Amino acid sequence: MKKIAVFLENKKPNILASVGLELLSETKRIIHDEVVEIVGIWFGSNLTLDQQALVQKTGAHKLILIENEELYDYDTQRYTTNLEAICKKENFDVLLIGSSILGRDLAPRLSARLKTGLTADATKLDFELTDDKLTLLATRPALGGNIFATIICPRTTPQMATIRPNVFKVSSEYNSHLIRQVEQYTPVKAMLEIVKKTPAKAASVDLTKAKLIISGGRGVADKFESIKELAGVLNTEYASSRALVDGGVSPRSRLVGQTGTTVQPKVYLSFGISGAIQHLAGMDKSDMIIAINNDPTANIFEVADVGIVSDAKEVLPLLINRIKEIKESK
Ligand SMILES: Cc1cc2nc3c(=O)[nH]c(=O)nc-3n(C[C@H](O)[C@H](O)[C@H](O)COP(=O)(O)OP(=O)(O)OC[C@H]3O[C@@H](n4cnc5c(N)ncnc54)[C@H](O)[C@@H]3O)c2cc1C
Repeated sequence: MKKIAVFLENKKPNILASVGLELLSETKRIIHDEVVEIVGIWFGSNLTLDQQALVQKTGAHKLILIENEELYDYDTQRYTTNLEAICKKENFDVLLIGSSILGRDLAPRLSARLKTGLTADATKLDFELTDDKLTLLATRPALGGNIFATIICPRTTPQMATIRPNVFKVSSEYNSHLIRQVEQYTPVKAMLEIVKKTPAKAASVDLTKAKLIISGGRGVADKFESIKELAGVLNTEYASSRALVDGGVSPRSRLVGQTGTTVQPKVYLSFGISGAIQHLAGMDKSDMIIAINNDPTANIFEVADVGIVSDAKEVLPLLINRIKEIKESK
């Protein structure tokens, strides 16, 4: 049977990060009823049953665990060696890893050890299944972000890819029978010693959590305060295209797109954004996209569910006042 494995990294020790669950869910969605085994791999010291239930709901068939105190904190050498051992034993056809700080450290080392191909920082996945071959098709922006390239590395296995967090949704609709397979830890002498742990400063904004995002582009550069005001009256987050970040109008923490944050809100409301491929890469999976642009040929209308051809600078104050009126009347 063909096998697709996903490395499940931890957000905190023994707490799963969303990206691994996202990759399991998307794999199950694409593979669906095909006869392919979907495997999660987890390292740590004690994964609770609640956390294992999350894996089960994504539709994974198997969870391979290595539980050892030495895997409590991420360590490049220990994680690489132990994942290498599992890959050699299991002969996965495909191995997916989140394109997080951890994944960007782990995946290239592992692919070099396994002498196999790695597509880094993909934003879309697909699989081609024939009688004797399963091929991973990983798509990522290329040539300075001007095209999307679909890359295959079919000659060696596992075919590896790292995939950006927050591109896919975590599903909890499946409830397959989950086999637990506990593997032995291969001891590795740590080359690093953790002297002290200092919690990172919380990010000033987390756009990935917002259900509604009000986003502005160059078309409203001189009215960006109104974008912030609209987000304020709606009690939500504002964001922007890179044109406004490069222009010093909006902070980098608010950037959506290939070089910024990937978001999937329920509603993405965009004002004066053209819809460049690099911007779309960060927001085209939103549940609903509403775009306001005065150019009817703007690219953003290709992905918008609702398109309004209008002067965004006129729409903004009307919308703000109307929402204030509604709030006051309640
Ligand atoms: C390697 C690379 C990575 C990149 N990464 C990102 C990224 O992560 N995120 C990102 O956003 N960009 C990114 N970019 C830049 C991207 O290519 C675009 O240049 C940028 O997204 C354009 O921003 P914009 O849509 O605000 O501006 P523009 O493309 O200039 O569009 C402005 C839009 O506003 C409309 N408009 C003007 N006046 C009004 C008005 N009064 N009312 C309504 N509409 C109006 C115009 O019709 C136009 O469509 C990247 C580029 C490269 C090369």
